[in-house]
Amino acid sequence: MIPQNFEYTAATSLDQALGLLAQGAKPLAGGMSLIPMMKLRLASPEHLVDIGKLKDLKYIREAGGVIHVGAASTHHEIESAALLRGKCPLLSETAAHIGDVQVRNMGTIGGSVAHADPSADYPAALQALEAKIVLRGAKSERRVSAADFFLDTFATALEPGEIVSEVIVPLEPSGVGVSYQKMVQPASGFAIVGVAARVQRSGGKITMARIGVTGLSNHSYRATAAEKALEGKSGSAGELQNAAALVAEGIDANSDLHASAEYRRHLAVVYATRALAAALARTA
Ligand code: FAD
Repeated sequence: MIPQNFEYTAATSLDQALGLLAQGAKPLAGGMSLIPMMKLRLASPEHLVDIGKLKDLKYIREAGGVIHVGAASTHHEIESAALLRGKCPLLSETAAHIGDVQVRNMGTIGGSVAHADPSADYPAALQALEAKIVLRGAKSERRVSAADFFLDTFATALEPGEIVSEVIVPLEPSGVGVSYQKMVQPASGFAIVGVAARVQRSGGKITMARIGVTGLSNHSYRATAAEKALEGKSGSAGELQNAAALVAEGIDANSDLHASAEYRRHLAVVYATRALAAALARTA
């Protein structure tokens, strides 16, 4: 049941959608998070603007040395895009971990990052990729780094009237190995803890490490102390474990009916070790 009446507009252009958002309407993309919230009466928008099928927001293309992923790209499209699988495999690998087939066919990357569920999968990858989130308003456009975008539980840098229009991810340089590893909450598929790792090795030494974490705390983050601990190391099992031990340091861990804070911290170390080992094995 959806308890409150609402107006619905299927936008035919981005400009039309942005004009309606400026007047207070709320975007609807895949509806995978918003519709359940409306059914639970946690959200009661008066006017929904459907942007889920807007061609202006549905693309995955390489330009200017990066990859632009339109906000209305579904998880399935991201999982299966040859461009991403070849040149930014961490994003497509992460998309493949989301929910189930139905959710991946409907849910969008724009909706996922805007919703900012603290257990969502993309944020870990976007932190590790140092991705940029592009925010469009009726008369504005700005780029925000993933590190500055995810602020708190269901809270982001989006201002009223703005939408996420695209996500920009890098072309992975040669010699970089990536992996996303997560402990799944079996009923929903969400991450109890998820860790995305990117590692570059040259001349037998780790020259770059990026680690993004989701599920552990109120918002995703980059584990910079662990990243620094890996630089210049050969990547032995002991070195990976020592670095992974720093992943949860200084983090205020969430506790809920699925996992205590202590257990989540433990999982973060275990899954960071696994993600780093898998990423390193792919650097060859
Ligand atoms: P919607 O539900 O349409 O919108 C969500 C919110 O974002 C709303 O507030 C809406 O107004 C806003 N919004 C939508 N698009 C934009 C935009 N472009 N700019 C600004 N605001 C926007 N997620 C995971 O990460 N991992 C999982 O394992 C997982 N499992 C799931 C299992 C189930 C059964 C379900 C129902 C969902 C699951 N999800 C999971 C969430 C799923 O990924 C959703 O697709 C996603 O959170 C929201 O995307 P959406 O396109 O459906 O957005």
